[in-house]
Amino acid sequence: MTNLAAAHRADFPGLFTPEGKPWHYLDTAATAQKPRAVIDAMARAMGEDYATVHRGVYARSAEMTRAFEAARTRVARFIGAGSDNEIVFVRGATEGINLVAQSWGGENLKPGDRIMLSVLEHHSNIVPWQMVATRTGAVIDVCPLTDDGRIDLDWLEANLSEQHKIVALSHVSNVLGSVLGAKRAAKAAHAVGAKLLLDGCQAAPRMRLAMAELDCDFYVFSGHKLYGPTGVGVLWAREELLQAMPPWQGGGAMIDRVTFEQTTYAPAPQRFEAGTPMITEVIALHAAIDFVEPFGMEALFAHESALAAQARDALREVNTIRLFGPEQSAGIVSFAMEGVHPHDIGTILDEEGVAIRAGHHCAQPLMDHLGVPATARASFGLYSDESDLAALMRGIERVQRIFG
Ligand code: PMP
Repeated sequence: MTNLAAAHRADFPGLFTPEGKPWHYLDTAATAQKPRAVIDAMARAMGEDYATVHRGVYARSAEMTRAFEAARTRVARFIGAGSDNEIVFVRGATEGINLVAQSWGGENLKPGDRIMLSVLEHHSNIVPWQMVATRTGAVIDVCPLTDDGRIDLDWLEANLSEQHKIVALSHVSNVLGSVLGAKRAAKAAHAVGAKLLLDGCQAAPRMRLAMAELDCDFYVFSGHKLYGPTGVGVLWAREELLQAMPPWQGGGAMIDRVTFEQTTYAPAPQRFEAGTPMITEVIALHAAIDFVEPFGMEALFAHESALAAQARDALREVNTIRLFGPEQSAGIVSFAMEGVHPHDIGTILDEEGVAIRAGHHCAQPLMDHLGVPATARASFGLYSDESDLAALMRGIERVQRIFG
């Protein structure tokens, strides 16, 4: 397992200090470091290959259009989509959820309809639903967690009703690393006629995805957590569902015919991609998937969850530490230390060359549920290894000395 990291660490320039010393980056859940292959693909797309897409008649633009659409095909294959038309390029998961909330939600929700979320959702899977609820008169319900921090599917099954039109849940929690029983959630949602949206931000970089098997209705993720660039993400939905949804932003590239009297729209996915798209980012996302997938998504999950389990075991030895979340975590470990603010843990670790995240992780309702203002979070990627764990624990010992 460690070999996986050791062999490829050198591919990531961001994992070293300017002096060339290793930097222990344990914030991959926030954003992943980029491999050289992605940086090079982005540079080529911005340099010698650069031109617009979908409009130019000259050869370079036609080639760029081919590369852009090849990325759509690559994403479709990566997540086991039924066709390229099921892939909408968006700026990130946040934009994908806003698109669904505004387009599908705006069209399908009416006063008294219910939206089911969970306690552990990221703000980007809460606020867009609150906005559309206010607009449509729909009501939000919140699924509680099990004692060990997983979405409580027994509760979900018992409490979903035909008033629920959409269930929107994290496939993997960005704070606790808990993995949702997605197929069971899909069955429960569909049993009452609701749609299921999965926020796959933390799942896409470390789990093999097959949309047909998951049986959800909408899936979103961000490119930058999948070793790709910022500014690009993916919304997946079955073609019939996308075709039935109204556009949510108007502009170039999303139309069929425009007159001042009336505009007709292009079919999906173009209907949802108004304006000049994120050309270079989409092409670099293709390179990211080409880089990541050959490791084997199952192998990545095993590698990162083994590191998380080791981290939990080591942190548990420190008697002032409280660990959050289930024992089996997808490469993410959140903890608090008695008498020490997580920001102080983060600052002291930074001095030791260890980067962890400290804060509410855009999950304030979950912090309220845990009864803490913030947690410290270590998260792992394909390049993480035992040396990062050792550095983390050296840093924690220093925190203990300072605050002990
Ligand atoms: N959902 C989850 C579970 C996340 O971890 C994140 C990023 N922290 C998001 C949504 C939002 O992703 P982005 O900021 O890339 O749109």
